[in-house]
Amino acid sequence: MTESPQTVTVLGGGLAGLAAAQRFAENGWKVTVLEIEDHVGGLASSFEQDGYTYDHGPHRLYSNLDELNEHFKTVLDGNWDYRDRLSRIYMRKKFFDYPLKVGNVVTSLGAWTMFRSFLDYFVARTRNAIKPIADDNFEAWIIKRFGRTLYELFFGTYTRKAWGIPCTQISADWAAQRISQLDLWDTVKKTIFRPKNEVRSLVSKFLYPKTGGIGALGRGYERLILRDGGTVVTSAEVVRLESEGGRITGAVYRKDGTEHVQRSDIFVSTMPLTLLIPMLGDVVPAEVTAAKDALVHKGIVFAYVKLDREQLTPDHWIYIPEEHIAVHRISEFTNFSKDCAPDGKTMVCAEITSTKGDAYWTSTDEQILDLAKRNLVELGLLDERDVLPGGFVRRVDYAYPIYDLTYRGNVRTLTQYLKGFENLVSTGRQGLFRYGNMDHSVAMGHAVAKRILEDAAVDHEQIAAAEEYFG
Ligand SMILES: Cc1cc2nc3c(=O)[nH]c(=O)nc-3n(C[C@H](O)[C@H](O)[C@H](O)COP(=O)(O)OP(=O)(O)OC[C@H]3O[C@@H](n4cnc5c(N)ncnc54)[C@H](O)[C@@H]3O)c2cc1C
Repeated sequence: MTESPQTVTVLGGGLAGLAAAQRFAENGWKVTVLEIEDHVGGLASSFEQDGYTYDHGPHRLYSNLDELNEHFKTVLDGNWDYRDRLSRIYMRKKFFDYPLKVGNVVTSLGAWTMFRSFLDYFVARTRNAIKPIADDNFEAWIIKRFGRTLYELFFGTYTRKAWGIPCTQISADWAAQRISQLDLWDTVKKTIFRPKNEVRSLVSKFLYPKTGGIGALGRGYERLILRDGGTVVTSAEVVRLESEGGRITGAVYRKDGTEHVQRSDIFVSTMPLTLLIPMLGDVVPAEVTAAKDALVHKGIVFAYVKLDREQLTPDHWIYIPEEHIAVHRISEFTNFSKDCAPDGKTMVCAEITSTKGDAYWTSTDEQILDLAKRNLVELGLLDERDVLPGGFVRRVDYAYPIYDLTYRGNVRTLTQYLKGFENLVSTGRQGLFRYGNMDHSVAMGHAVAKRILEDAAVDHEQIAAAEEYFG
């Protein structure tokens, strides 16, 4: 990108930014990370209060690449354990395995529902054989593979609720990346030929820190960056980028009420694309601004409720598709690590998807806590007598990039435009508008560092872009 650059500024201290910064620092570069929050980790950060450790929703650390799993263990420096995942769907006061198991659906919803599901499935397959059904949106993708009954019962209701838009307006990309079974027949096969060593429904292993919540990973990166001479500036809000002739010359950030300019040879941004583009100022063409304006994020309102009991359910998380209930998922961090709460206590994190400024976003914390508690009591999951004082609420605005039917083209317009700046790279979940996992963000950070450090032909934009199951 430039001749032997030695300095790099990383905008945003989430996992993508930290992973890139750590690679630069261990290779002798002068690294500065600028992070708006007073801690690193981004969406995968944790916070502690009164002996409890909280994450921003459930975070399961796992990669399909052994090399990356080993890397996580190194960064966590011995502070990790394997967990056997349990996550289910709770609906009509019954638990369903996730991914779906045929036997489980029959016992919980009855043979007639299962019969209707198969009938629908064969109708859809026959229709598809006569005239192929295009995978042009989430609803079409699911109905073609699972039939309308299962779409209405599980996939459609949950997705509509969590994303807040009709499933016909959601890209099929998302289905391919988030649904593990190929179709209903694949579900049947997976139910019948269940691996012998599978002792519980839906068991798969993942990594989780023994102490400190998932945020221990980000703090591990921070420790390594500092060890290798890098600098991490927290409570530093990047407000604009200065440029000259297609090069970024400085990142202006605000800290303690004062503006500072950070100069370097290379700038790696992991901030949301929708924030980065306006930071470039008047040089941005109108069509680029229009593409930026068309991108939509969904936020989450998290309600954290402390409980005077050892365990609420054995699950790491539970999906709640029923549309009259605001909460769409709950998680219990003590099932990830007992260290997350004092002995004999647990807590539940209830998530409500929301858009900045909507009714949930602007409700008071008391109203949200009350709503979450009422929802869980109504579902029969919570006994109000177990609730301890000290519940609280947090809001995160850039939680989910929404894969609507136009997002691909809009993201392409923005990433192409940014290539016009020779020393700027935008990466990570927010910087590529990519609905990926933690391992994808780390891989994106590594790919960017490799490309620059080794002048290697690595394309970070391809990570988490394929139609493959993410887990
Ligand atoms: C509820 C929920 C559950 C999840 N569960 C899982 C899971 O089970 N497993 C899994 O692998 N992944 C999970 N994920 C995804 C995972 O959290 C993210 O993919 C990953 O943490 C993203 O890292 P990132 O660095 O790419 O982005 P981010 O974490 O968003 O980092 C961007 C950083 O930029 C900073 N920033 C923004 N604006 C500015 C500014 N102006 N100046 C300075 N800094 C700025 C932000 O504060 C943030 O730290 C989950 C996500 C959510 C929301």
